[in-house]
Amino acid sequence: MRFFLSGSLLLATVLGTAVPRAEKVDYTGFKVLRLSLHKASNSIEEQVEKIAAHVLNPGKSTLDVVVSPDSVAAIKALVPESIVINEDLGASLAEEGELVSPDFSVSAVPSETWFTAYHPYADHLKFLSDLQGGFPSQSEIFTAGTSVQGRALTGIHIWGSGGKGSKPAVLIHGTVHAREWITTMTTEYFAWQLLTKYAFDATVKSLVDKYDYYIIPAVNPDGFVYTQTTDRLWRKNRQTVSSSTCVGRDINRNWPYKWEVTGGASTSPCSETYKGQVAGDAPENKGLVAQVNSLRAGKGIRLYLDIHSYGQYILWPYGYDCSLVVHNSAQLRSIATSAAAAIKAVSGTSYTIGPSCSTLYATTGSSVDYIDATGNATYSYTWELRDTGTYGFQLPASQIQPTARETWQGLLSTLQNAG
Ligand SMILES: [Zn+2]
Repeated sequence: MRFFLSGSLLLATVLGTAVPRAEKVDYTGFKVLRLSLHKASNSIEEQVEKIAAHVLNPGKSTLDVVVSPDSVAAIKALVPESIVINEDLGASLAEEGELVSPDFSVSAVPSETWFTAYHPYADHLKFLSDLQGGFPSQSEIFTAGTSVQGRALTGIHIWGSGGKGSKPAVLIHGTVHAREWITTMTTEYFAWQLLTKYAFDATVKSLVDKYDYYIIPAVNPDGFVYTQTTDRLWRKNRQTVSSSTCVGRDINRNWPYKWEVTGGASTSPCSETYKGQVAGDAPENKGLVAQVNSLRAGKGIRLYLDIHSYGQYILWPYGYDCSLVVHNSAQLRSIATSAAAAIKAVSGTSYTIGPSCSTLYATTGSSVDYIDATGNATYSYTWELRDTGTYGFQLPASQIQPTARETWQGLLSTLQNAG
């Protein structure tokens, strides 16, 4: 992706000066192509990745790639079977809306208007602390380690009757992939609903009384900040390696379970799915692993949800081997079937469900596999939210509430069936 950055950034990168400060990547005129790779060799995908500005769904056999106007011909020469699914990415980024910084001068529980726009990272921390401040006897802010650049991985812990830490855990992660902004908003919506409805909604009350919730809306804060300052389509963390000028590990290919298996991640630091040099060597990962292990040692993990976008999938283990069937596959499928129906009932959004590897693509070192196998979670899922590629990662702000509301119904269904 280096070719379209400004000359000054290139120079800074080459010289290795401290933290190159890029101007924002301008995607005006860039196109999104959907490539049918079928059983194409890995080398075709690697060549595509070198030409494309970003691969949006690395690993899939129909690959969505962002391409500069100058590179369209080169991509079509490599993969003749391709269609344009977005003529001007710059235009759809404009449709996403500006980052809105709400007026926090009056400290109060955030209102639903929070979910009508995207926000700067600092405001997300303020949202969590304001929400927690409204319900001090049944919530607290926690951190799960620290990012490469020193940001705390910040979450909110919510409990009901019986007090803090007395029930099995429901652990929810958002924004492990930095560009998946709808997941920050949706996981915050979960926390907001659980706390603000507890007092008067019997269903919510019973579910909050049943589990301890640990929700981290942005487990990749450095990447998230980078998507807001520099490159809206950044996916990984911001960790460097001495052997390459490329930056970032894919935190969801770095978990220390089946990390070493080949085929579900990349060993190239320039790839969107770079797995890292050693299992669990991303600082973000160390903090998340420690928290999972501590929850396991406590009351155990009843449910884990890793919230991603896009594609509209509910997926369960395993990612690393397409032939394996997880021991509680039938229950996982049954719960997912009900959740997909609950989501669809809100406004017709269709989800595809199935085991991760055979339904979507192979992934090694993924959170769902680790938290199923090592974290000993009863139920472990990846959810891929809206859409199926029309807007991709930059869903218009007008879709935040509809997405959050339908996904909330999916969560309620899942919680009710996970007992
Ligand atoms: Zn993702």
